[in-house]
Amino acid sequence: MSDIKVLLNESDIPTHWYNVVADMPKPPLPPLAPDGNPVTPEQMLAIFPGPLLEQEMSGERWIPIPEEVRQIYKQWRPTPMFRARRLEQMLGTPAKIYYKYEGVSPAGSHKVNTSVPQAFFNKMVGITRLTTETGAGQWGSSIAFAGQMFGIEVRVYMVKVSYNQKPFRRSMMQTWGAEVFASPTDMTNAGRTALAADANNPGSLGLAISEAVEEAASRKDTNYSLGSVLNHVCLHQTVIGLEAKKQFEKVGDYPDMVFACCGGGSNFAGTAFPFLADKAAGKKVRLVAAEPSSCPSLTKGVYAYDFGDVSGYTPLMKMYTLGHDFMPPSIHAGGLRYHGDSPLVCQLYNEGLIEAVAVPQIATFEAGVQFARAEGIIPAPESCHAIRACIDEALRCKQSGEKKTLFFNLSGHGHFDMASYDKYFAGELVDYDYPEAAVKEALKRLPKIAA
Ligand SMILES: *Cc1c(COP(=O)(O)O)cnc(C)c1O
Repeated sequence: MSDIKVLLNESDIPTHWYNVVADMPKPPLPPLAPDGNPVTPEQMLAIFPGPLLEQEMSGERWIPIPEEVRQIYKQWRPTPMFRARRLEQMLGTPAKIYYKYEGVSPAGSHKVNTSVPQAFFNKMVGITRLTTETGAGQWGSSIAFAGQMFGIEVRVYMVKVSYNQKPFRRSMMQTWGAEVFASPTDMTNAGRTALAADANNPGSLGLAISEAVEEAASRKDTNYSLGSVLNHVCLHQTVIGLEAKKQFEKVGDYPDMVFACCGGGSNFAGTAFPFLADKAAGKKVRLVAAEPSSCPSLTKGVYAYDFGDVSGYTPLMKMYTLGHDFMPPSIHAGGLRYHGDSPLVCQLYNEGLIEAVAVPQIATFEAGVQFARAEGIIPAPESCHAIRACIDEALRCKQSGEKKTLFFNLSGHGHFDMASYDKYFAGELVDYDYPEAAVKEALKRLPKIAA
């Protein structure tokens, strides 16, 4: 066996997703309607298919993965895990570093792990169209690919700044047959309202969500699809951690610490939750979410019920939030610019079962370039956050002489993000700490929930 690359067989692709709810100390807090009552399944059925809603609310530990979905997973799963020996040497650390690489998927990131089952379950209930939003374009391409696999039309509202900055992500979606519009558009009330207030509105993830949800709610043949945050999305991503555990078993090792970058939380959840099951069973393992200092929802946000979008169309979810009207600074990790986080991740963070660190932008690119020069793979700017956090720990081990085993998920490749690397090389990137005052200000605009 290679001492660099840990491969599994096709038969090792999980047959079930792992539902962390079964191992949580307290049941998850339900999404609420603005009147303070839990949202009813009927309300959610307007935009989500029944099987996904069942998963959303399930307390079952194991949820079967349909064979049709496993067939498509087989195209890139199991994904490889690597021992980063060259990076270890470069850092001079006694720590062992492993990473799993999700960039081998058709769309280049972990997001297809959920876009494929989402398209499948929508198809199953007779839905023929899906709407969604995309920031940097990773989710849009993933759902475009999945829609194509199951013969479902896909319409993507792409945040306008990204639409202009990332034309090749748009071409990718169009290659897989999706329609792509720069959000805000004049096709929805949410978009028209935003444009009336500011014709040059650059768009945001929250606003694009409003547009996609509005359209899905207004058409019977159309559902909405979300690339992160929700319980069923976190669930689908657990194939990452489940495979990783098998890979560690194969090399006879086990991580002391697990790192994953955290935008809406599904990548972190998918990587860390299967290890949390071991932790619940008494094993010692630290799980660390890495987020940008410019969008620090876990480390600086407030734990409160808030909307998932700008216009307040979504149910209220209890999460660490920077406020639903948060306008992100234009950082280059587009996939990490969400104002909140998965309610599951937030509840576990609140209970002290997982940890979070915020890392500044320039240091993340520094880590990404160091990683690329050691290991060859050019990481997505989002993934660079996990690499930074992991390298920082490896350097602490160098100081202390500890021989920890560190593991991170490399959520995607950066081949469509080279313009951001260019800016880094040109010294044009800036660090931006999201100010405490802005968090306090956003608190005032949190939705008031009827008692
Ligand atoms: C979208 C994205 C993320 C963030 O994912 P979440 O699951 O929302 O935290 C991380 N890495 C890559 C490569 C992405 O495309």
